[in-house]
Amino acid sequence: MSETAPEQQCHVTLDTLVSLCKRRGFIFPGSEIYDGLAGTYDYGPLGIELKRNVREAWWRSMIHDRDDVEGIESAILMNPRTWKASGHVDTFSDPLCDSLGPSRKRYRADHVPPMEATAFEIIDVSDEAAPRKVDDAQIWAPSKKKAKEIYQAYWEKPLGLSGRRVKLEEVAGSTRVGRFSPDDGGLLTEPRAFNLMLTTHCGPVVETAAQVYLRPETAQGMFVNFANVQSSMRRKLPFGIAQNGKSFRNEITPKNFIFRTREFEQAELEFFCKPGEECREGEMNDDQWWEHWVEYRTNWHVRYGLKREHLRFYHQTKEELAHYSKACCDIEFLFPIGWQELEGIANRTDYDLKQHMKESGKDLRYFDAELNKHYVPYVIEPALGVDRSCLAFLTDAYTEEQVRDDKRVVLKLHRDLAPVKCAVFPLLKNKPELVAMAEKLTLDLKKKFHTVYDDTAAIGKLYRRQDEIGTPFCVTVDVDSLEDQAVTVRDRDTMQQVRLGIDKVRGHILAELQAARGTQ
Ligand code: ATP
Repeated sequence: MSETAPEQQCHVTLDTLVSLCKRRGFIFPGSEIYDGLAGTYDYGPLGIELKRNVREAWWRSMIHDRDDVEGIESAILMNPRTWKASGHVDTFSDPLCDSLGPSRKRYRADHVPPMEATAFEIIDVSDEAAPRKVDDAQIWAPSKKKAKEIYQAYWEKPLGLSGRRVKLEEVAGSTRVGRFSPDDGGLLTEPRAFNLMLTTHCGPVVETAAQVYLRPETAQGMFVNFANVQSSMRRKLPFGIAQNGKSFRNEITPKNFIFRTREFEQAELEFFCKPGEECREGEMNDDQWWEHWVEYRTNWHVRYGLKREHLRFYHQTKEELAHYSKACCDIEFLFPIGWQELEGIANRTDYDLKQHMKESGKDLRYFDAELNKHYVPYVIEPALGVDRSCLAFLTDAYTEEQVRDDKRVVLKLHRDLAPVKCAVFPLLKNKPELVAMAEKLTLDLKKKFHTVYDDTAAIGKLYRRQDEIGTPFCVTVDVDSLEDQAVTVRDRDTMQQVRLGIDKVRGHILAELQAARGTQ
């Protein structure tokens, strides 16, 4: 789907999230000290905790909570014939076009909608007596005002016109609808297919024969292991194989923070089921399983914190569907950049297994003992981007509240997803007995959940710091604690405090974490 302006506004801007993520150690630009590498991001100490928690929540729900899915981890580098069979070598491409303007920027043609524009010529009028037209320089823009802005940003310097007096003149009758660079106003070249797979070489000799691909999706790892998993785990249809891990795509225009990057993480399931004609009375067919997975995955997003009204479904039309696909539903989320795909759920029919049978010559059919026949199963594929999922959870968790005269920023992340579960503070850091008690409690809590100790600011500031990173519980050890062996436990969302015996804190927080997992 194209990245259009949001019809419904998200409550937080991308800039706000990017800045919080950088400042608080969630996500940094990749290779930043070398001015970065486009389309890459590094997860910092808190970001990786969040991502691990998202991954684990997905794994629990897809594998441990069910009895019909097995997990695997396949190699990122696969025999290149895999990608021939899957169709990626021949067809995994995006339409690429270049601006003929000075920026030479590249665009995905489907990300640049046609617009009505007029051509403006650049006339150097520094010498009034002999105005000079700058050859081959035409700026396409919807208005003269816009053309002027574009000229100053992109054309003036490269054309060596800085400091010269210049006027822009409309080319009579040039107005038309076409594809122009939204940045430098240059004409765009005709789109050409650009394969998105990144390559590398295996072995010491860099030659074509040794070329391999960095996988563009994790799915093929499940297809090539279908027979291994089915026979080793003695599985009958229907059953699924799931994995999560890195995928790589040479995206033409990586953008919007971790929404579209060149290296990203996917969490995918291939659910093998009986095609309709092989189903007996009462058995679910592929259409019903597809519906089941759309609902199951939607509930997962809501359970872990996305607001239901921030999710919607886009059903691909017949023209948009891949030729082998029977149905595909994109679960879209209201990101700060507008409604965009978060997860896709497709009915891939028997296409992939049949392709691998053809290419490998191996029989990947399933033997149905009850029907006493072989057939190729159908496949339902829910495919989630883990980074997009982190961005979605951060978006809906981000809250600004007015607390008396103060703005409180709080990440209301689901407790299972929060990077740190508990923070412990001594009320006074110059009282060694308090510090020792708080440190001892921290060590005790760490054995059960991620806990940090902090005494580097006043208590109010310490609370705000933890609110901003989504820590559900803060525990304060105060002067009375030395007498009554009790501490204060503060809840992130309600800011309510309860006083508990120090030996009860661990059990209390564990019970609260457990309750959150069970009920939401
Ligand atoms: P898009 O249309 O946004 O390019 P897609 O339809 O090609 O995505 P799929 O191949 O269905 O995506 O991949 C499944 C999921 O992987 C997507 O729903 C998305 O969450 C995630 N994903 C795909 N490409 C990227 C990327 N470049 N960066 C981050 N996540 C991605």
